[in-house]
Amino acid sequence: MRQLKTFYVRTYGCQMNELDSEIMVGQLENRGLTRIEDEYSADLLIFNTCSIRDLAERKVMGKLGKLGRFLQTHQPIIGVTGCMANAKKDALFQKIPHIDFILGTNNIHDLNNVLDEVLSTGNQTIRTDDKFEHELDYLGAKRDDKVKAYVSISRGCDKFCTYCVVPYTRGPEVSRPPENIVEECRHLVANGYKEITLLGQNVNSYGKDKPEWQCLFHDLLYQLDKIPGLERVRFMTSHPVDITKELMQAIRDLKSVCEFVHFPVQAGSNRILKKMHRIYTLEQYLEKVHMLRETVPHVALGTDIIVGFPTETEEEFQLTYNVLKEVEYSVAFLFAYSQRKGTPAMRWKDDISEEIKQDRLQRLIQMQDEIYSKQRQDMLGKEFEVLVEKRNFKDSTLLKARTRCWKNVLFAGDESLIGTLQKVKIHSFSHQTLLGDLITNSGLKMLG
Ligand code: SF4
Repeated sequence: MRQLKTFYVRTYGCQMNELDSEIMVGQLENRGLTRIEDEYSADLLIFNTCSIRDLAERKVMGKLGKLGRFLQTHQPIIGVTGCMANAKKDALFQKIPHIDFILGTNNIHDLNNVLDEVLSTGNQTIRTDDKFEHELDYLGAKRDDKVKAYVSISRGCDKFCTYCVVPYTRGPEVSRPPENIVEECRHLVANGYKEITLLGQNVNSYGKDKPEWQCLFHDLLYQLDKIPGLERVRFMTSHPVDITKELMQAIRDLKSVCEFVHFPVQAGSNRILKKMHRIYTLEQYLEKVHMLRETVPHVALGTDIIVGFPTETEEEFQLTYNVLKEVEYSVAFLFAYSQRKGTPAMRWKDDISEEIKQDRLQRLIQMQDEIYSKQRQDMLGKEFEVLVEKRNFKDSTLLKARTRCWKNVLFAGDESLIGTLQKVKIHSFSHQTLLGDLITNSGLKMLG
């Protein structure tokens, strides 16, 4: 059987995919392979793909197509994993015949078995289960970051928003047992990690599929907060209908839980929200925003918004614009709608022209830039607790850190501060980054 020595992994898409790649890297290193960054000399190439937008898929198809040219001189094993594997299945073999294996998001535990099969038979191999059913070797994941780690608490989604492929690519929601999550977090903290981001397509509905555990998302947060040395807990992403009063109180009361909630509104018109199957009205959404802000002082909110959904009128877009302006999100991911094969929204004509979509998008971006600028202005002269993450990439005399509310701050400091909580005073900002001065080695909890 052919011996593999090196591998290359390229990750597209979301944090869940980043974590899946870290798990696969762990599996391959346990097998004795070495990760390298040169795709043209590795023995095994893995493309961990994303299906959320058409552009993401086109990038991967372009990359895989180009690889065909160098196969005359080099014969690596090529695998496609991630959401495109589930969405396209063996149609990928027809389009890109030099792919050796396809591994779905719910099958990454099987990577080494699939590799053995490919190497021993020489046949193209595919595994794409609809449901996530195997606990993964999370403890063996090979993480690049030494301060922050992602921890998966659930996989899949049951919400079926009409524009989204996730329920079809990642399957129904399956929560991970709380004791496994706590064990992994303890392990990470023992290995020096200070911040954990809990991942799920909709973390707020954690545990609802397993009522016998009697552990909903806020219960899990209380358990994690007890881990000594775990300084910060974040989570993403959330569906507004599942955020409860108990969760808001947990964010307010638990020292480790950061006051930042990604709370995607998607659109401002009730007709469009209904068409998107978001299962809330704008009034219900704004009521939750109000409750959250009353319960958790200084909470920062993030959002996702789609413009140009089929049949969206200018007046309906204006309602979305008004929400963005009124709520003043700290983080906003803004997108123009693109059709995704296999989603219910495909039955509607994509009838908003690209020109109108881009015009609406630009108007939102411009408004959000004004909000960012105002928020940064408000932070000038104030002190914030930051977790120091690493040296700054562009200017290595600076350290890169983040506030509890997810704002990037750069300041001059010694490398020994990486992985510690510090207090900084903001003196200026440029583009998207705040610049500050180190005040003390405090470890105080301060908002911001
Ligand atoms: S909540 Fe909606 S947008 Fe989010 S993953 Fe589930 S179906 Fe997709």
